[in-house]
Amino acid sequence: MIELDVLLIGAPEFIAAVEGRYGCFASKVIPVVSPADALPYIQQERPDIVILPFMIQVEQQIGRHLRQSNTSRSIYCLAVDVLDCHDLAYPLLMLTVERSAVALETGADAYFPMQLQVAPAIETEERLLMAYLQVANQQVSRYRELNKANDFLSTIALADPLTELGNRRALEWELPRQAQKARLRQTPLSLIILDVDYFKLVNDSHGHLMGDRVLKLLAARLNSQIRGRDTIFRYGGEEFVVLLSKTDLTAAEAIAGRLRLAIGEQPFSLNRGLSLPITVSLGVASFRASDDGKGRSLLYRADQHLLMAKSRGRNQVISDRSPEVGG
Ligand code: GH3
Ligand code: MG
Ligand code: MG
Repeated sequence: MIELDVLLIGAPEFIAAVEGRYGCFASKVIPVVSPADALPYIQQERPDIVILPFMIQVEQQIGRHLRQSNTSRSIYCLAVDVLDCHDLAYPLLMLTVERSAVALETGADAYFPMQLQVAPAIETEERLLMAYLQVANQQVSRYRELNKANDFLSTIALADPLTELGNRRALEWELPRQAQKARLRQTPLSLIILDVDYFKLVNDSHGHLMGDRVLKLLAARLNSQIRGRDTIFRYGGEEFVVLLSKTDLTAAEAIAGRLRLAIGEQPFSLNRGLSLPITVSLGVASFRASDDGKGRSLLYRADQHLLMAKSRGRNQVISDRSPEVGG
């Protein structure tokens, strides 16, 4: 059994009733005066299991809210119904069946009737409580394993194995997010696309393995030049995209110039006898109000600038502002 964080939350009388009956088994206890306070506390604590009064669950639909939020989706929600003499006047089985249905309908994982007036029921109740904790434990374990597998698969799906940079799929996921953010918050966003000059010659002259080594070293050089908030992606074979959040065109041009020098100024040492001079051509564009919200036109413009850099002789930066672009 894994260690579970159990949060007991509710009015002080509820907490006293549960602890008086079953002892202090919860890892954390939070008394709340108003039922409306319960949800924010649970979301903040993020326990594995929350034990709360049936009425709070029903009125606030706590289980349903937890499931809608990414961070608290896995919290197991147990609604405890403290039944008193008055409740017991109603046929008990009918009452608990009905309330059990209501608890589940409003988002709880389980309903637990606690019959204060019926002392001999304690053992059976305790058995049921332990069974629920066991189910919660299995659910939490499964969820954790799934999450781990999911993280692992996402890393594989979004990473380029050669350079360890994000791949094109990662860019296609990230670019629309950044473009939306830039549009909503009206913050600048720039994009650099760069392509290795005459890379085919490297492969043709020294073989693909050497070509691969150049790409790996080149990616590391690019990475060493950018700031923490910027991201580099391997867009295709020997093409890379750098996303520069909160960066205007002037700053992006400066970064592109720095990247060009970082690659072109020092040859790449591949082994003792082999040192290759490599250059790159770069296109730079900054997000405009007229750009689409997915970043497609931004990427397209940068790519057009890259083509112009190639046609104008390579090893240079062309941006939205370059005189050749005309606007
Ligand atoms: P340009 O200056 O016009 O960009 O010329 P180029 O030779 O770089 O362009 P071209 O598109 O003709 O060739 C790109 C080459 O990049 C061809 C392809 O074999 C090579 N390439 C693409 N991906 C990889 C890779 O993962 N490893 C290696 N070694 N080569 C690759
Ligand atoms: Mg090339
Ligand atoms: Mg290319």
